[in-house]
Amino acid sequence: MTEVRFAGKIGLITGAASGIGRATALALVRQGGTLVAVDRDADGLERLSAELGNGHRTIVADVTSEDRWREIAEEVGDAYGRLDILFNNAGYGKFASIAETSLDQWRAILAVNLDSVFLATKHLQLLLASAGEAAVINMSSIRGLTGDANTGSYCAAKGGVRLFTKACALEFAEQGLRIRVNSIHPGHVRTSLTENAHADPAQAKRLLADIPMQRVAAPEEIADAVLFLASDESRYMTGSELVVDGGATAQ
Ligand code: NAD
Repeated sequence: MTEVRFAGKIGLITGAASGIGRATALALVRQGGTLVAVDRDADGLERLSAELGNGHRTIVADVTSEDRWREIAEEVGDAYGRLDILFNNAGYGKFASIAETSLDQWRAILAVNLDSVFLATKHLQLLLASAGEAAVINMSSIRGLTGDANTGSYCAAKGGVRLFTKACALEFAEQGLRIRVNSIHPGHVRTSLTENAHADPAQAKRLLADIPMQRVAAPEEIADAVLFLASDESRYMTGSELVVDGGATAQ
């Protein structure tokens, strides 16, 4: 693909200060897009901004706050009048048994991984519709497809993202809106979220044993798949789930 694949496109990415979000942000800009980077990590956004140069926008925000989404929609609307690409990526999980998980911890995981996707979609829908052709990519996980022990709240949240994505795709299509909505399901990716697992050799070995391709993904490999869903190359895809897991869930 040429470097102008996303020329003239405005893309908003949450969780853009680190990991998969950051890799996707850099690739989008490299391929001609204009970036709106949202994250709660102000320092991380500053580092990203320094690497990107002028012409892009960073917004420090907690994606679980509905008030902040109202303000973000207003800021993006005032600046661009539309939004072409929305990558709902911010999120994290915590390992804990169900017995050890408090209701507050459960709600926190649901809020960051799932509520945020609903809020962004709700408040940015008009701007996405204004683009004429828009793409929403929602970050799920292979844990949104298959369960795992000690990951109950994360599995519930990512499974919720998977079906919310399909519901959105159908609703927008029924309304005649040209907004495609797809979910992405990475397996194990080397980011700050998983660094502890890689640091422990025994855990790293167990991890690799479950991956037919025998390696974890680089964030850039997920970014490539996200940008496929964001691009015209996936123009007949909506309500789909794209699995990028080195074969882990094929077994
Ligand atoms: P990461 O920790 O490197 O990046 C996550 C980013 O989200 C951080 O910059 C963080 O500041 C931001 N964030 C977290 N909570 C936020 C909030 N409330 N408001 C605003 N920003 C917030 O992790 P990553 O691995 O790049 O994860 C990105 C997404 O990919 C997550 O949704 C994660 O669940 C998903 N995922 C990761 C893996 C993996 O193996 N790393 C696998 C499947 C899915």
